[in-house]
Amino acid sequence: MVVNEMAASTASRHFVIIGGGPGGTACATHAARLGAKVTLIEKDIVGGAAHLLDCIPSKAMIATGSAMSMMNDATEMGLAKVDVVLDFEALGRRVEDIENRLETTLTELLVSQGVRIIEGVGRMVGTHEVEVTTSAEDGSQSTELITGDVIVVSTGSRPRIPDWANVDGDRVLSTRHAYPPPRLPDHLIVVGSGVTGVEFVHMFNSFGSNVTLIVSRQQVLPEKDPEVAAVLEQTFLDRGVDLFMGARAESIEQTDTGVEVRCDDGRVARGSHVLLAIGSIPNSQGLGLEEIGVEMSSGYVQIDHNCRSTVPHLYAAGDVSGKLPLSSVATMQGRKIAEHAMGLHANSPHRHIDYDKAASAIFTNPEIADVGVAEADAFAEGRKIRVTKVPFSMSAKALINNDSRGFVKIVSDPATGVVMGGSIVGRHAAELISVLALAISANLTVKDLVESLFVHPALAEVLGEAAE
Ligand SMILES: Cc1cc2nc3c(=O)[nH]c(=O)nc-3n(C[C@H](O)[C@H](O)[C@H](O)COP(=O)(O)OP(=O)(O)OC[C@H]3O[C@@H](n4cnc5c(N)ncnc54)[C@H](O)[C@@H]3O)c2cc1C
Repeated sequence: MVVNEMAASTASRHFVIIGGGPGGTACATHAARLGAKVTLIEKDIVGGAAHLLDCIPSKAMIATGSAMSMMNDATEMGLAKVDVVLDFEALGRRVEDIENRLETTLTELLVSQGVRIIEGVGRMVGTHEVEVTTSAEDGSQSTELITGDVIVVSTGSRPRIPDWANVDGDRVLSTRHAYPPPRLPDHLIVVGSGVTGVEFVHMFNSFGSNVTLIVSRQQVLPEKDPEVAAVLEQTFLDRGVDLFMGARAESIEQTDTGVEVRCDDGRVARGSHVLLAIGSIPNSQGLGLEEIGVEMSSGYVQIDHNCRSTVPHLYAAGDVSGKLPLSSVATMQGRKIAEHAMGLHANSPHRHIDYDKAASAIFTNPEIADVGVAEADAFAEGRKIRVTKVPFSMSAKALINNDSRGFVKIVSDPATGVVMGGSIVGRHAAELISVLALAISANLTVKDLVESLFVHPALAEVLGEAAE
């Protein structure tokens, strides 16, 4: 009831959203649902880099690699062995098809809600005025000035390319050249062992490429729980991945046969291709934000807990806001912005985003997922925690799946039993972590998990066991 009243009083608000990735489109659909007039400006594809260049194509390719691995293990499932061959062109078509279908569905949803989508480049020319430049097929350009009551900047980010790397999209690749690359690398060198880097290692290793991973520290996934990282490190070694630990790439040279990557400790990695996965930078240049008084830091829009910038009616969602660079976070920010700008927070309880409670996953084999407080961080901070851990080898479903690697670890408050965090390594970890994410967000206790009636046989049963 309150929602409807608020929506009625703010229905005339015009949202102008620059950037149609998860942040922008979530804000658009939500604001439209709340009764706002919405204009969405997108220069490339509705769905954003997330759909076209990052999350979706990477996961589509990883799914194909997983299918190959499963078929290679066919005999262990009671099947006769078949030789599976990767059809690289068919893989490219599959990725494109998924992207097209997602774009179509999302565009249809936005249009059905009355959102006006403009294909063009937006930039601020006043605090409320956005100039949109559109290009016609003949190369001519035209501009339109749009005035908004609420402005949302959700322009995303792009791969960080160091000046010593001459990315050519052929042998020297950024993450954006890999879906799929022009040809399957014989030997891929991946520079960067964060989430993106290790996913590429897994992907190309499962396609049959030789892979070398250059790890600048002494642990792959340096930001993650060491116990979790160790499982992945061992898996990579078992699968023949060459790990250059504690080495920083400094230069890339193209040779007649491939590439050479020189590291600061003198080692040289030789391969057919190199892929850089060393972080991202925000897409904020040329948007006119500083000129209208928006405070920025290292190119990121500075936002408060309502995702609002220093210009009160201008919000930022997604990677450009400098918070957790996850599609799920961008989507939630978009939704919260719509609620805040439509005044919902004024008359009903409003929960701000707690970035520390965002679940995230790494789509390697085994999958890795975590949420909330990490055991190592809690110890480092001297916090009192209870940690319980159960391996998937206890699970009937894991045996049925022929994959009992990994474990579930739950971090809880020893005094109250409230679930504070968790890590899952194993098949379907990215799905299973949602149970812990919900437990954390709803302040549930380990007892609540223990007393939940999960399906049997199911991997989720291990969550109940780990909560004991
Ligand atoms: C390889 C890789 C894999 C990833 N996998 C995952 C994953 O599995 N799960 C996950 O949660 N996250 C993943 N991420 C992170 C995720 O892709 C980003 O966090 C997400 O895309 C951020 O959404 P966004 O809305 O900020 O921006 P984007 O998705 O980058 O969209 C921004 C949009 O703005 C448009 N734009 C930019 N400037 C303008 C302008 N001036 N005018 C008009 N339009 C403009 C762009 O064309 C783009 O479409 C991955 C990232 C990478 C690099």
